[in-house]
Amino acid sequence: MLCSRIRTALSARLDGEELPPGLTAHRLDGHLAGCPDCRRWHAQAQALTARLDRAAAHPEDDRAAADALLARLRSASVLPGPVSPGTADTGGKRAG
Ligand SMILES: [Zn+2]
Repeated sequence: MLCSRIRTALSARLDGEELPPGLTAHRLDGHLAGCPDCRRWHAQAQALTARLDRAAAHPEDDRAAADALLARLRSASVLPGPVSPGTADTGGKRAG
């Protein structure tokens, strides 16, 4: 059994996807038991998946980033001063 096939299947299992045809969880575990390289690879893949899951489970981090961006946009946009009403529009007033 090629390690690359095993790792493809392990990746699928971590992602919650179906295992490739011909591979079972039992075979994966059996390969891991006898292949230190794949064990190390699997540990790294698990750590990465856990980190991604944590990021997805905490959208507050994204909220904070979005809030910071909004604050920057607000401070950057220069609003015109208050417009006093009536002075610009003389339509309702006739001289004479
Ligand atoms: Zn292997």
